[in-house]
Amino acid sequence: MLSISHALTGAFIASKLPHPALYIPLTLATHYLEDWIPHWDVATGLNNGMRTRIAAFLLELLDLAATIVLIYFLWQADQTKIQYHIWTGAFTGLVPDFLEAPRNFLKWEPCFLKQINEFHSWFHHSVVNKVVGLTPQIIAVGLIWLLK
Ligand SMILES: [Zn+2]
Repeated sequence: MLSISHALTGAFIASKLPHPALYIPLTLATHYLEDWIPHWDVATGLNNGMRTRIAAFLLELLDLAATIVLIYFLWQADQTKIQYHIWTGAFTGLVPDFLEAPRNFLKWEPCFLKQINEFHSWFHHSVVNKVVGLTPQIIAVGLIWLLK
């Protein structure tokens, strides 16, 4: 899924649970479950040549920038102190994708990441159709926005 979806999910989970020992593992588990839902993201099309690595990387930068802005406005803007738990949850929600980034964007995969990336790939279901692939993510972000 898009970074927006994973990071907002992690931030939301962190906003509702009192301790990192609870929200970090739940956020990681949720990342894999979200990727199991057929979805479109910036890496869709990399494996079959429909998208270049540089295009995917630039889209990912936009996705991350939008993610930071959204999290800031949803949880940080009206606070006087940095909401470390929110940012930790958001970052944790992206960890599986960060670990896969060298393989996706540089065609380089350190051997110690192979098994965890295989595990990630096993859950990952991409669809080329953007309407089908973005609808569950729009619903998820909308629900988070409403329930935050
Ligand atoms: Zn993922």
